[in-house]
Amino acid sequence: MRLVTTDKGQRMDMFNIWQGMGDAPDYGTPAPAPTSGGGDSRARAVADELARLELVCEAMWELVKEKTNLVDDDLLGKMAELDLADGVADGKKAKGGPVMCVKCNRPNSRRHDFCIYCGQHIRSKPFQ
Ligand SMILES: [Zn+2]
Repeated sequence: MRLVTTDKGQRMDMFNIWQGMGDAPDYGTPAPAPTSGGGDSRARAVADELARLELVCEAMWELVKEKTNLVDDDLLGKMAELDLADGVADGKKAKGGPVMCVKCNRPNSRRHDFCIYCGQHIRSKPFQ
């Protein structure tokens, strides 16, 4: 999260600044900006980022519902389907193992877009 220093010497992230603007909606009081590199400030930064991602997901889902005929049950069904893709209903998306190359059938790490052995494009899904 990008931090800036205000004229009063306070460190604020862009969300704090945006909330301070006149017409900005109130999304609650954000956690204070971290002041040191300790574990608490790191945990707070992760919690803040998680809260921001939750906001983005909720906004995206609201937009999808407004623009389509999808309803909450559709989302819950898809979440259950993806959750069970690894055979375990644990409420989490499995990270998964290696991706097999469709050309040379050798295993590749999921962080690669192309097969390290033959160069075949192996990333076929945006969240793979
Ligand atoms: Zn390959």
